[in-house]
Amino acid sequence: MAAPNEQHSAKKYVPRPEGLNLEFHHACLANGLVSLQRCTGCGHFRHPPRWYCPNCHSSAYEFAPVSGKGEIYSMAINHFTIDPGWVDELPYVTAVVELAEGPRVVGALRDVAPGEVNLGQAVQVAVEARGEDFAFLWVTA
Ligand SMILES: [Zn+2]
Repeated sequence: MAAPNEQHSAKKYVPRPEGLNLEFHHACLANGLVSLQRCTGCGHFRHPPRWYCPNCHSSAYEFAPVSGKGEIYSMAINHFTIDPGWVDELPYVTAVVELAEGPRVVGALRDVAPGEVNLGQAVQVAVEARGEDFAFLWVTA
């Protein structure tokens, strides 16, 4: 029998990313770290992935691991979900995290009650593999 957390993860809907988005997920899964698109012309990190650098307009890029350190830029407390896989975790917090490298990513807070988290709070973003094509981002305080 699987551990309780594995059962919850197994029930959750897993998106099927495509194109540049799929490249982002594969990069995260390849090294187990949050990995962002970086312009190889000027070094600017960007997210979500795009074809051209907003800083220098180069089309050359790579995906590179980042620290995963950042702070909560925005958040929502979810009291309702349409995904049965999340029902047992209500209420939970979904957060936009501004990473130390600049770009913002979206993830769910793990092991934190909604009243225990604030905007601007320092957090760590980590990757959890959900199959071969999707990297779920967990945020911990
Ligand atoms: Zn650039």
